[in-house]
Amino acid sequence: MTAIERYLAPASLDDALAALAGGNATILAGGTDLMVQSHGGKTRLRPVLLNIRRLPELAGHSIEGESVRIGALTTINQLREDATLAKALPLLAEAADRFASDQVRNMATIGGNVCNASPAGDTLVPLLVLDAEVELASASGRRRLPINGFFTGPGRTLRQPEELLTAIYVPMPRLRTVSRFVKFGTRPALDISAVSLGFKAELTPAGLANVRVAFGAVGPTPMRGPGTEALLEGQRLTPALIAKAAETAMAEITPIDDVRATAWYRRELVHNLLRKVLNDVADH
Ligand SMILES: Cc1cc2nc3c(=O)[nH]c(=O)nc-3n(C[C@H](O)[C@H](O)[C@H](O)COP(=O)(O)OP(=O)(O)OC[C@H]3O[C@@H](n4cnc5c(N)ncnc54)[C@H](O)[C@@H]3O)c2cc1C
Repeated sequence: MTAIERYLAPASLDDALAALAGGNATILAGGTDLMVQSHGGKTRLRPVLLNIRRLPELAGHSIEGESVRIGALTTINQLREDATLAKALPLLAEAADRFASDQVRNMATIGGNVCNASPAGDTLVPLLVLDAEVELASASGRRRLPINGFFTGPGRTLRQPEELLTAIYVPMPRLRTVSRFVKFGTRPALDISAVSLGFKAELTPAGLANVRVAFGAVGPTPMRGPGTEALLEGQRLTPALIAKAAETAMAEITPIDDVRATAWYRRELVHNLLRKVLNDVADH
């Protein structure tokens, strides 16, 4: 572990961005990933440890136009328990409900989950199906990027070292939207996903519209399933279509063998979980 030369806990965004400007700082939010990884030697801390928990701009949530702005410091328990958030974005509340334990959920932030970029991060699959965008700020300005494409590898994103994730914008689902999140682990609670799956679509008289399907823990990053989405778009769910969608999903993921599951088992899980979700939506 690297020796930390300075510990900063600024109360203003400008001060935080100035501290990040040299690319010399490690950002600390809830610490539930960072501390475990640095103690385990998986992450080298930079000379400056920048605690962002006092930054008011990163806290809370608000409705902005057609989107919900979720501050990066919003905790997993807030996603689960805040009535406004849970009503606007039930899929995120569902994922938060399956996340770790109360102790971890009280500290863990959505910003930390996104920036940690684990292929199994539990808010990432819902954020992918909800077409979320991330807002990044640095001393030279702000930019917004779609979350689809933000993850570039395990633990890697398009965020630059001098950038802070300030918020996540999630378009509010339209009326008649159905969504589902399923997490499969080897234990019923306190487990990292062996596979997770998210689904969202609008139910129209003509069939499914704006279909989104995403998977976690089946490749180097959480991923959308473009082939499965294209197959389902504009269609009515029939047993034959559901069977074909499950086969397509299984073919477009790239799982590996690891301690939680083999690649074969992950493919089977995706096949069976998607079939179950689509059957459930068909009965809706
Ligand atoms: C016992 C245990 C169980 C867990 N179970 C789950 C689980 O079920 N599902 C799951 O998805 N995860 C789980 N985790 C992992 C972890 O809790 C989450 O990923 C959590 O959301 C991380 O948030 P944090 O605020 O603690 O991030 P931190 O640990 O503070 O930071 C994580 C990374 O993100 C960076 N970072 C944090 N915030 C920002 C920001 N605003 N801008 C830029 N960079 C930032 C940090 O520099 C660091 O690299 C578990 C962890 C533990 C210890």
